[in-house]
Amino acid sequence: MTSMDLDRWTRVKDRLRAEVGDDVYASWFARMELDSSEGDTVKLSVPTRFLKSWIQSHYAERVLACWQAEQPNFSRVELTVRSAVIRTLAPKIKQAETAGPQPSREVKLNGVDLRHTVGPISAVHEALGGSPLDPRLTFETFVIGRSNTLAHAAAKQVAQARRGDVVMFNPLYIHAGVGLGKTHLLQSLAWAGNATAERKVLYLTAEKFMYGFVAALRAQNALAFKEALRTIDVLVIDDLQFLQGRSTQAEFCHTLNALIDAGRQVVIAADRPPSDLESLDERVRSRLAGGLVVEMGSLGEELRLEILKCRAAAARQHHPGFDVPLPVLEFIAKAVTHNGRDLEGALNRLLAHSKLTGQPVTLEMAEREVRDLIRPQEPKRVKIEDIQRVVARQYNVSRADLLSSRRTANVVRPRQVAMYLAKTLTLRSLPEIGRRFGGRDHTTVLHAVRKIENLVSTDSSLADEIELLKRQLQE
Ligand code: ADP
Ligand code: MG
Repeated sequence: MTSMDLDRWTRVKDRLRAEVGDDVYASWFARMELDSSEGDTVKLSVPTRFLKSWIQSHYAERVLACWQAEQPNFSRVELTVRSAVIRTLAPKIKQAETAGPQPSREVKLNGVDLRHTVGPISAVHEALGGSPLDPRLTFETFVIGRSNTLAHAAAKQVAQARRGDVVMFNPLYIHAGVGLGKTHLLQSLAWAGNATAERKVLYLTAEKFMYGFVAALRAQNALAFKEALRTIDVLVIDDLQFLQGRSTQAEFCHTLNALIDAGRQVVIAADRPPSDLESLDERVRSRLAGGLVVEMGSLGEELRLEILKCRAAAARQHHPGFDVPLPVLEFIAKAVTHNGRDLEGALNRLLAHSKLTGQPVTLEMAEREVRDLIRPQEPKRVKIEDIQRVVARQYNVSRADLLSSRRTANVVRPRQVAMYLAKTLTLRSLPEIGRRFGGRDHTTVLHAVRKIENLVSTDSSLADEIELLKRQLQE
């Protein structure tokens, strides 16, 4: 391709942007690239099949017209889906899945279980009734990237605060999908916060909180348990989504209020935002949302690579012969997406393999070993807000229309579609969905879901439309 081609391409994009507007452009065309132009055909590519079919069905002529304005002899635009490593590897995964039991992922990186050899911090922590802290999960080993900068900064700030400092955000609420570093960050905070004797930081899983409380109740010293909790400076609760049971929730609510009102810090992690913690009562949810709520996004490729480099370096300290060449790390970072646990699993496999066979780690071996960790279409966490936004855009109504009580046909159908998608793409319950759609009753949601289910079985264009929306939300 010549620089003239590229200049022309830039002008075509500008033209397109001017015609469709910034929003539409950003949604559909931002990731479109020029591959080549030959004779009367220009070849463009986009990263996903969904984008391809959407552009083809809605904007094919527009795109061609923009090209023709620059280059009148073009008569055809060919759109393809760019292949990524992940996609080309996809067929192999199926084989691996059916190839029978897979090797266990539970190979310890460090050979020894350090948990038994840690110093006084964890002893003190466990004496307080805290959950065990993993010595590998510290700020030193936590790699900072775009998706977690804010969460990291907030956690660090909390860890470094001193008794008597003004609490800046309370509670600090961190949410993210599985394997994105919540536990790592929270445990880092607990280690660092307990490094001086001045303050007590207690790290508890929600389960530990429940069992501690239930056990205390059985032993009739619930009061003592509560008192003990209230003497700590920072209460850190991990995986709050697992908190269940009415009395524990009530107790959690009291503890939260007591601590916050006393100027103590509370830090929470969960797999969803406070508004989506359905089993908690509204007051608790709003209290949780009243501090600083930070989401950690998925681990980008750069961050994955950094994490792998750190992990490999750490492993080498215990296993001097374990040398993982950079191209192998790069391959894993590219192929294994999103989830930090799978990154760890991938490295552990390489380690196990190289220990067992005594062979050096090569790209080929890595490709074979991590095959089944490669998930081309790892389902994304779909949020109700995203569904509302995407559906509103598709049907040219506003999000407020979807939530409103208007009953005109042009909003009723999109609203039903959005509710249907909320039910099928998220784990939210009918009442929760109703609440998020302007406080509707769960029977209304159920009606919408059934309605769309019925329509989809007879109306193939609606079925296609819904399929497109689903893909767009999941990509
Ligand atoms: P979560 O609690 O969100 O499910 P974890 O904290 O257990 O996730 O992280 C899963 C794995 O990924 C752990 O091995 C963790 O050390 C690693 N990990 C995740 N994020 C990072 C990061 N930013 N830096 C280093 N390791 C990370
Ligand atoms: Mg966790």
